[in-house]
Amino acid sequence: MARVLIVGAGPTGSLCAALLRRELPQRPLRIVLWDKARGAGGRMTTSRSPHNPRCTADLGAQYITLRPAYALKHQSFYEDLLAHGVLKPLTAPVEGMVMEEGSHNFVTPQGISSIVKHYLTESGADVFYEHHVTQIYLRGGKWEVCKKTGSPEQFDIVVLTIPVPQILQLQGDIVNIIKESQKQQLESVSYSSRYALGLFYEAGTWIDVPWAAQYITNNPCIRFISIDNKKRNIESSEFGPSVVVHTSVPFGTAHLEWDKEKVQPIILDHLENIMPGLPKPTSIKCQKWRYSQVTKAIPSCPGQMTLHIKPLLVCGGDGFTHSNFDGDEVPIKCAAYPKSGATRNKQPVPVKGRKKRVLERIQVDIQMYISHVTRFVIS
Ligand SMILES: Cc1cc2nc3c(=O)[nH]c(=O)nc-3n(C[C@H](O)[C@H](O)[C@H](O)COP(=O)(O)OP(=O)(O)OC[C@H]3O[C@@H](n4cnc5c(N)ncnc54)[C@H](O)[C@@H]3O)c2cc1C
Repeated sequence: MARVLIVGAGPTGSLCAALLRRELPQRPLRIVLWDKARGAGGRMTTSRSPHNPRCTADLGAQYITLRPAYALKHQSFYEDLLAHGVLKPLTAPVEGMVMEEGSHNFVTPQGISSIVKHYLTESGADVFYEHHVTQIYLRGGKWEVCKKTGSPEQFDIVVLTIPVPQILQLQGDIVNIIKESQKQQLESVSYSSRYALGLFYEAGTWIDVPWAAQYITNNPCIRFISIDNKKRNIESSEFGPSVVVHTSVPFGTAHLEWDKEKVQPIILDHLENIMPGLPKPTSIKCQKWRYSQVTKAIPSCPGQMTLHIKPLLVCGGDGFTHSNFDGDEVPIKCAAYPKSGATRNKQPVPVKGRKKRVLERIQVDIQMYISHVTRFVIS
């Protein structure tokens, strides 16, 4: 039985696994997924309060936007996610959000990681967490993949869906397998950085604001605040609310090498200025997003990069998707929230300069490389 290893349990890896299974339902194929984290989601992660697991916060991606250009093409994906209750229309008030005409925003009642979990379940893949891939070797026509702890394992095909700088950190034969021209392309990919705070509250706590989320434009540190349960329409007397705070990219970049413990009080001070009287949370989670959103993708990217043909070693993810920005500096000018220019900035960004939303892009790209991977599984 062919063994396929997908590295990364974010949206790309999970959808890749599900689509591979859909393409080859009858084929004896073992799909294995490894992620270095302790759970599924990647940058679409949902954190739980240590005091009440029903009190959750989306620390990375906030919502999914379906743009008119993709409405027809991706109808089946959205229908599937809506039918399973994974997605629901975003109806809560978001202040400062700029919507492209004809686009629709969706939230995830169970948290943004439920998208990833939905695809992992569909795929039937064997998923292993705390499996940090460190080296990849070519041995006897198979890939031998080493992780930080435990024995190496062999696979017929390896699909890397990890951020591009983390692909470049991998050691072993892969270092020489990546051609110089590919290496240059990979090295040209850049990401923004930011911090996210999740504040978890006791049941019965009331946060008295008229909005569910807000884009902040006049603070040097904070760019976005969400009353996360309200954003997802899951207010309940059985668990407390949660608040998510995203810093701006300039703040994230300036404090990138700082300890989280030192950055957290700075963000909280700014939060106190913006929302004086905010109740004291029962716990706080601080997340550093070193690779937050792609500011420069692989030039004229085809959605994936084949590093080796037989056996197949392929990589994909948001670093490989087509960038729609008017030049690479646009996201830096949009500064605070480059990834989703259409909805992240109070000042509208020209349509041409807006970046496609991740799920839409990933679906396009993943389908391209799924057919690519399937060809190799079949042959
Ligand atoms: C703060 C923030 C806000 C965002 N807001 C939005 C939004 O509102 N809407 C939207 O659509 N998108 C948003 N995004 C972007 C979106 O989350 C990403 O584009 C998307 O998650 C990329 O998916 P991926 O699967 O390619 O990568 P990831 O989600 O990063 O998944 C990669 C996985 O690989 C794992 N990994 C890395 N290295 C290794 C290794 N060596 N071994 C094993 N595993 C490894 C990681 O643990 C991770 O789980 C946001 C992102 C951030 C950080």
